[in-house]
Amino acid sequence: MTAPSPPDGPAAPARPVILTVDDDPGVSRAVARDLRRKYGERHRIVRAESGEMALDALRQMKLRGEQVAVLLADYRMPEMNGIEFLEQAMDIYPGARRALLTAYADTGAAIDAINVVDLDYYLLKPWDPPEEKLYPVVDSLLESWQAADHRPVAELKVVGHRWSARSSEVREFLARNQVPYRWYPSDEPEGKRLLDAAGADGMTLPVVITVDGEALVGPADAELAARVGLATTPSAEFYDLVVIGGGPAGLGAAVYGASEGLRTVLVERTATGGQAGQSSRIENYLGFPDGVSGAQLTDRARRQATKFGAELLTTREVTGLEVHGPARTVRFSDGTAIDAHAVILATGVAYRQLAAPGVKDLTGLGVFYGSALTEATTCAGHDVYIVGGANSAGQAAVYLARGARSVTILVRGPSLRKSMSHYLIEQIEKIPRITVRTCTEIAEAHGDGHLERLTLRDSNTGGTEVVDAQWLFVFIGAAPLTGWLDGVVHRDGRGFVLAGPDLPAGGDWQAGWPLDRAPYHLETSVPGVFVAGDVRAESAKRVASAVGEGAMAVMLVHRYLERT
Ligand SMILES: Cc1cc2nc3c(=O)[nH]c(=O)nc-3n(C[C@H](O)[C@H](O)[C@H](O)COP(=O)(O)OP(=O)(O)OC[C@H]3O[C@@H](n4cnc5c(N)ncnc54)[C@H](O)[C@@H]3O)c2cc1C
Repeated sequence: MTAPSPPDGPAAPARPVILTVDDDPGVSRAVARDLRRKYGERHRIVRAESGEMALDALRQMKLRGEQVAVLLADYRMPEMNGIEFLEQAMDIYPGARRALLTAYADTGAAIDAINVVDLDYYLLKPWDPPEEKLYPVVDSLLESWQAADHRPVAELKVVGHRWSARSSEVREFLARNQVPYRWYPSDEPEGKRLLDAAGADGMTLPVVITVDGEALVGPADAELAARVGLATTPSAEFYDLVVIGGGPAGLGAAVYGASEGLRTVLVERTATGGQAGQSSRIENYLGFPDGVSGAQLTDRARRQATKFGAELLTTREVTGLEVHGPARTVRFSDGTAIDAHAVILATGVAYRQLAAPGVKDLTGLGVFYGSALTEATTCAGHDVYIVGGANSAGQAAVYLARGARSVTILVRGPSLRKSMSHYLIEQIEKIPRITVRTCTEIAEAHGDGHLERLTLRDSNTGGTEVVDAQWLFVFIGAAPLTGWLDGVVHRDGRGFVLAGPDLPAGGDWQAGWPLDRAPYHLETSVPGVFVAGDVRAESAKRVASAVGEGAMAVMLVHRYLERT
């Protein structure tokens, strides 16, 4: 037995495959030669010398997202005959056209196969001259294959379950990092075929299949990031500037830092874009009169930062900041560290969790924080609930209402007016599918394996009502995650970082302040450590102000570096 012939030419994967399988090497070579002569330019001819080898080759092609147009199998092969091969090949490539190569004596078997494997043709050996006996058949097979839709799928594939929390997280992670992927539910035929091809039992989901056809079973974010080409390791040990957090403030700082000649690295624990990256449409950012999606803004900012030479690391969480003389040491969760002259904290805020019973266990299983953009297609045609009364909830409602059967916004207060921008309230009022239920809160979430019902409570009367619900998106505010700065950087009672004039006069921090000047405007209680964006106490909590503060912090970093 020989292995299937390798791709013939560098552009091979783009060409649909014609696969032939024959256990007689002479015949196998002759068929492949004749096929290559006429079809080699536009098709990749793959030959195998046993059914098993051909099936292996098909599984590999499936994982790589290649298209298979025609399968041509010899009938009489030991171990697995041509019909048995075609039967199994159909499970992998149901759309490929099928032909059997038979000796005259076997035509009866070939005719039977028409029913068993839905055979398109059978060819008699020998097929000389091919112009008369082989090519017309293959032409017709190719024609009927081309008539169907065979869009190439040379992208990352995610096979997962709708109600698997990790499947949702992985999709969210890829989407937020602008990595294109195609989603295959594991309980649908193509999803099952991909799992089979990957040799995965489906117990651990998702299975991510890279563009090279490598199957990653239940990958962690860091593994996934590395495989899809996102940088995760710093290239140096020392930088002029480390920016912590890849939201608008961090990206703004990275663009200005790198463009002004600072060796800059940005460290992001999940995906760049931060909260803004999850916004379906930012309408109040300067220069975008028609609005811009968070994903687009993030993509542009990433490219801009990279163009100026900033290094962007994802899936790296910072868990410590140390001061060693003039160096500022930034420590990662795996214990490794990098040093810099200056640091900008741009860690923003994270979604506040809904405390109602049942919600925690169903997170990712119908209950989602933020991920309205990623889940929009999956909840199309369903009834969707959104908790929260701020702009983020309003944007999600408008976005989800495009596909959902109904969207109900649950607000604790008596109206949206106090918490949501006027323009969004007007948009919501014009969409009949959106209902706003005021004075309502979630008392409990119920479901076995995924969300099935919600108990809603009237916050005036205390009365409860149970509603059927498969989808709940939570937007109830956010809090800074700055515990790791304890004992190093001064913060307010809620964990927001204090800087410049907001540092309390005569406070404890002053005892540790070593300089004879006051902290600059965005400078924290540690010289050379600045803060920008939502994590800063008293910040505006807007994209424009976060970007502006990122830029301004860089200007102050320059001032700091010049005077130390
Ligand atoms: C759905 C939604 C819609 C919005 N719409 C609008 C709008 O239309 N207009 C508007 O002006 N504002 C809007 N906002 C608010 C706006 O997005 C925020 O004000 C802005 O994103 C703040 O930017 P930031 O960079 O300060 O923080 P964030 O965007 O919160 O980014 C902080 C980043 O730091 C990372 N990080 C945190 N801790 C660490 C750590 N220890 N190590 C490494 N990385 C870390 C986080 O993962 C995150 O990516 C919206 C917010 C949401 C959630």
